[in-house]
Amino acid sequence: MLSSHFIDAIHRAGGIPVVLPPYENDAGDQLERIDGLIISGGSDIDPSHYGGEQHPEVYEVDRVRDAGEIALVRLAAERGLPTLGICRGAQMINVALGGSLIEHLPDAVDNSIQHRADPPGAVLHAVHIDAGSRLAEIVGNEVIAPASWHHQAIRTLAPGLVITARAPDGVIEAVELPSHPWLIAVQWHPEMTAVHDPVQQLLFNSLVQGAQLTLEKRRAG
Ligand code: MN
Repeated sequence: MLSSHFIDAIHRAGGIPVVLPPYENDAGDQLERIDGLIISGGSDIDPSHYGGEQHPEVYEVDRVRDAGEIALVRLAAERGLPTLGICRGAQMINVALGGSLIEHLPDAVDNSIQHRADPPGAVLHAVHIDAGSRLAEIVGNEVIAPASWHHQAIRTLAPGLVITARAPDGVIEAVELPSHPWLIAVQWHPEMTAVHDPVQQLLFNSLVQGAQLTLEKRRAG
């Protein structure tokens, strides 16, 4: 199951969206047939993948999906395939590349910023983007107000990743991999507001531009 918001955002950017089943053994072949990758939002990653605690607030762990996405992320990083991580996808990129997560944000940060509505839903909060990052180049603004719907976040950063945005409470809201042609991960949900917030649509447009370059390179052999 995948929200049509992700699919519509790629379509608006001029890409052809394809949904991948999460089978670990297929990951290498799947990546040969696509030009860019989104690791989407969803439920929590099994904390055993990052040496974390089986916290009571961790929900709907799916081991098949975890394994499939870990394989996709590692191969996409190795092959230089343009990759956008969104929410769980940002956490997955960090975990797959060797980082860890905060299992439940209210245990780790003050309650000055709401990152998930109660009952669970999306809320808007400010995100401060580091000038000089690729994210800043794409988004063009230093402060944005995207949709947030998460109760976990990055704790320790995977080797090679750099932090490019934070919420006012210090929570890591975006990372990127400078050694890679296009690998950006955001803790918020650009797909939820992209239809009416052009700033959020820019992330998908840039991913599809990166994918177009991949396609051209492949055609040139
Ligand atoms: Mn947030």
